Amino acid sequence: MVQNVKEQLEILADLQQIEISAARLEESLSKVDQKLARLDGELVQFSDAVETARAEVEDIRQKYKADEEEVRSISDQIAKNEARLGTIKTNKEYQAALKEIDDLKRKRSRIEEAMIETLEKIEAAEKTLAEKEEFLKQQEAEIEEQKKDIIEAASGKRDELEKLKQKAAEVAGKVEPRLYQTYNRIKQHGGGVAVAAVENAVCQVCHMNIPPQAFNELLRLDEIKICPNCQRIIYPRQNA
Ligand SMILES: [Zn+2]
Repeated sequence: MVQNVKEQLEILADLQQIEISAARLEESLSKVDQKLARLDGELVQFSDAVETARAEVEDIRQKYKADEEEVRSISDQIAKNEARLGTIKTNKEYQAALKEIDDLKRKRSRIEEAMIETLEKIEAAEKTLAEKEEFLKQQEAEIEEQKKDIIEAASGKRDELEKLKQKAAEVAGKVEPRLYQTYNRIKQHGGGVAVAAVENAVCQVCHMNIPPQAFNELLRLDEIKICPNCQRIIYPRQNA
């Protein structure tokens, strides 16, 4: 366990690197459920669009059926009126009955014309429905694929995270216990960063100059030094 200051600092820098990588993985993993939910949400939208299109087709078909029903009813009325013609005694009543039949036939024609238009609307609505169904099918396959990729990647990241945590515990075990406490305390206050490299007398975390006297002491590596500005544990690093 007895190591010199240089070794301790190297271990701490190593530990910090591992912990930062682990934190990044955790951050990314925390977004996995969100990503999956967003994809499911997209799918619900496409599926809703299919339902809307299907309801539209159904509505128009209902209208067509109602018209069909009415045409049948009018035809029945026409047939009854025509059958009654032979029993009519006066010319005036006969003319009135003929006019009624004529009116009914005109009404039936109007409805039949509207039904042709309705048929075209049904065709268009069915086409839209088929397109939306096809699109949904494509999206289902695509989103399934994306979800699979996300889940697979997450599983890989979880394995990696597990390894990093083991490694961190292993490395942390090599740190002198009191220094480890200090490290954790500084890490808490320092936004997860406890150790800062110093290059050319500049702290690489807060970018402030280390005063010459303190820098010289740091280079001696005979005790743990703290950045006078950001209070992080500092170690000298040659810049390439
Ligand atoms: Zn600093």
